[in-house]
Amino acid sequence: MNIDKYQDSITNVSDFPIKGIQFKDITTLFENPDAFKAMMDDLIEQIDHLPEFNKIVALDARGFVLGGPLALHYHVPLVLARKPGKLPREGVKQSYSLEYGQNTMCISQNSINRGDKVLVVDDLLATGGTINSIVKITEKCDATCVGAAVIIELDDLNGRELLKPIDVVSLLHYKGE
Ligand code: AMP
Repeated sequence: MNIDKYQDSITNVSDFPIKGIQFKDITTLFENPDAFKAMMDDLIEQIDHLPEFNKIVALDARGFVLGGPLALHYHVPLVLARKPGKLPREGVKQSYSLEYGQNTMCISQNSINRGDKVLVVDDLLATGGTINSIVKITEKCDATCVGAAVIIELDDLNGRELLKPIDVVSLLHYKGE
């Protein structure tokens, strides 16, 4: 693991988007190619230990940045999970609660098919509601979510517990936030 090469590239922003939230801004990591590369290498090393998957679902919007290189590395289809109103075709939807507020995720119909084994990728795991919405969408499509990969896990919010029995890999853990 190369955590020292990228951990400091993440910017903590207090009280964003609402008071009390310590927002982990990973866009500053994406702006540093050495840090970005070291982080992607570590993420792939962890994903290699997950059960086999044949599709990646990347979450709107920072998950998209991870999904592209991962889909090319593993040579599997990349499916974009988007917020409502963004997909031009019919979609499969699921609403959920966030650490701050409510949201809905949506994927295009026929992007996930019966029997697919899906890996979900996002920047951060907090309560797990966002990734869980994809678990539910995959179930609606008669497919299975076999794993989830994130850069950051906020341990106190127990997202990993909500997602059980799905295997979750994360690179950086924050406690007490
Ligand atoms: P959750 O559904 O509670 O696991 O929240 C995860 C989603 O919300 C991810 O897409 C994150 O980008 C975003 N998010 C939640 N909390 C934070 C935070 N403290 N810093 C940055 N992003 C966050």
